[in-house]
Amino acid sequence: MLKPAVFLDRDGTINLDPGYLGDPEKVEIYPLVKEGIRKLKCSFGFTIVVVSNQSGIARGLITEEQVIAVNKRINDLLGEEAKIDAFYYCSHHPEFSSPEECLCRKPSPEMILKAASELKLDLKKSYIIGDKAIDVESGFNAGIKTVLLTNTISRAEREEMENNNLIPTFVADNFEEASNFIITDYQGEII
Ligand SMILES: [Mg+2]
Repeated sequence: MLKPAVFLDRDGTINLDPGYLGDPEKVEIYPLVKEGIRKLKCSFGFTIVVVSNQSGIARGLITEEQVIAVNKRINDLLGEEAKIDAFYYCSHHPEFSSPEECLCRKPSPEMILKAASELKLDLKKSYIIGDKAIDVESGFNAGIKTVLLTNTISRAEREEMENNNLIPTFVADNFEEASNFIITDYQGEII
């Protein structure tokens, strides 16, 4: 049976985003994230999957090993009950990589679709939480519901989203609001 999932952007959503984060010691998790993920997992058993653009690898600013070390540190900080089940990342960037390599880069839905196929996820019952327009757009492209966090997004980017008719299913001021929305919405869907 296919499982429901919550896809999460990483930088700016789970952890503070200092830009090209390569040092596991610098990982800082946003408040309420750990508890929010725990609730998502224990309420309806959502599979939690990170989908993250890490173009710092293509740019030569960080290594793949550093991205993996940061991911591991995130899971250490989240603990067993709020553990991320899988991390997907796109290491490419159009200026440094071929168009084929960049196919995974958000707003493409490719990482979501790949995870859905590999982990047997039900996209009809899945959501994405992110802090940027590309996160919402990748959710649109994958046909899942979208939650925009207001952690980092600028007023200009919000306006641009509206002008492009890129309207998230829900806008949340913090991770608790985001996870509560998903739990309530999912409850409505399954009744
Ligand atoms: Mg982000």
